[in-house]
Order: sequence, then structure tokens, then C-alpha cells
Amino acid sequence: MMNKQQVLSILEEYGLQAKKSLGQNFLCNEDVIGEILDLAELRNDVTCLEIGPGLGALSEEAVLRAGNYLAVEIDTRFEKRLSEVIRNHGGQLVFKDYLAFGKEDLPDPSFTPDVILSNLPYYVMTPIMIKVMKDFSSTKRMVFMVEEDALERIFAKPKTKQYGPLSVLTDLFGKKEKCLNVDGGSFYPAPNTVSSVIRIKKGSEEPFDPEIIGFVECAFSLRRKTLVNSLSSGGKYSKESIVSALSAIGRKETVRSEELQPKEFLDLYEILQGKKG
Ligand code: SAM
Repeated sequence: MMNKQQVLSILEEYGLQAKKSLGQNFLCNEDVIGEILDLAELRNDVTCLEIGPGLGALSEEAVLRAGNYLAVEIDTRFEKRLSEVIRNHGGQLVFKDYLAFGKEDLPDPSFTPDVILSNLPYYVMTPIMIKVMKDFSSTKRMVFMVEEDALERIFAKPKTKQYGPLSVLTDLFGKKEKCLNVDGGSFYPAPNTVSSVIRIKKGSEEPFDPEIIGFVECAFSLRRKTLVNSLSSGGKYSKESIVSALSAIGRKETVRSEELQPKEFLDLYEILQGKKG
């Protein structure tokens, strides 16, 4: 496992420097790396997807613990290092911007991760989290390192400024928990903010329907308007059907999206889809 000295010597050996524009803050705290790997519960019957392996702080152990492992990294400068860490140990590696990643980029079209792991690059935390829920909705658990701002949005309660699609969708996906705080000194280079490791784990709740992502995003698209106006602006549902669905869940037509609990979004969506009366 990697400490700061090892990160520095890997950077030197491969002639690399961290790129700030790609959110490259490499983990260099062995205790934190160990805890993240334990939270992912990797075993030989588990398939794991890692986004942004970087120098391989998590990957070198994850590829050994998981039965099937794939990493997606945007920065091709890491190819030599990551080939040694991942490909030489039976894992697969794709160089691609995850936000442009499609099923056609999977080395094996049937690849379905049980676990998604990422020390997320800070500049694209929200879009990556939302895209993994869309792409791999059957995933059993997700373990992410996130910075303060994303953490607040994930755990925000209704009627607060931070409450939005990320709060609602992570809630509907599974049970979410904040597992540990990680200080800046655990990374090289050290970021300015405190980070946290979170885990979102599926329980016995209904399967997550990825179509609800667009619905919730649309509901929050016009924050100053009523929910009826935001949702009808998407063109999919008429104002009348939205008002009637709201009334079925005991809400007035003047309600705003930030007032609804995550479960109410699910109920509303299912009524409008005709899945619920
Ligand atoms: N996992 C490594 C670790 O913990 O030390 C690196 C984490 S670093 C915070 C984020 C990593 O994500 C970097 O390797 C960066 O190049 C990669 N990355 C940034 N944007 C990406 C994107 N759009 N798609 C895939 N990887 C990305």
C-alpha cells in the first residue's frame, strides 16, 4: 500500500506530475486505503469497477481481492504504471473519460459491477455519481471519496439550499452512510478541503429504476418555480396529470421540489408512469 514517499517515487520513476485540472490528488495514507478497501467488501465472487485509478493506490489491492476488476482512467500518461498494477494481475483497464464512457467501451459487454469504487476527481463528482447510477443501476454498493461540498449535497435534507438531485437519487439508490473523514495530508498533493468516504449500499428496497434520474433532474430544473411548472416544462407530463398525482400523495399543486422527501419523488414518478394508482 502507498505512503507519501512511495507516491513521490512512483511519480519520479515514471516521469509524472499530478494534473490539477484532472482532480489528481493521490491517496497516500495506508490506513485510509485499507479502510476503503474493507468497506468495498471485495471477494473473489465480486466484480468491481474503479473510476480514476490514478497511480493505483486502491487498484493494486482491489485487483487482487475482487474476482473481476475493471478500471476506467482518463489520463493515458498512467498507462505504463497501471498496466503493471492492473493488467499484469488479471484486471482490465480502459482509458476513457468516464463521462463519455458507453457500453461499447466495456471489454466484456456482460460486465456488471457489484461494487463501484472511486476516489472521485473533485471537478466532476456529481456527474460521475449520477452517471454510475444510470449505467450500472443493479450495483450492490458504491464506495466513494468525496469532498465537503458534494458530501453536503448527498446528505442534504428537504427545504435546504443543498437539497437536490444528488440528495434524492442517492437516497433512492440505497442506504447511505458517511464512513470516515480524511484530512488533506492523506493525499499528495494535499487538497484544500476535507474529504470523506461514503458508502451507498442496496438493501431490500425495490430495484433502482434509472429512468427516475431524468425525472428528478427535471423536477429541480426550475428551482424558483413550482414542481408542476418544472416537471411540465420537460414536455413529458401535462400539468393536469402532475396536479392529480400530487394530490394522490397528499400534496398541493403549489409545492416546490425542495419540499418533497425522496420517497415522495418515487411515488409521484410511479403514479405518472402508471405503475401505481
Ligand atoms: N484512485 C487514485 C488514488 O486514490 O490515489 C487517484 C484519485 S484522483 C482523486 C482522481 C483520478 O480520476 C485521477 O487519476 C484522474 O486522472 C482521474 N479522472 C479525472 N477525471 C476523470 C474522468 N472524467 N474519467 C475517468 N477518470 C478521471
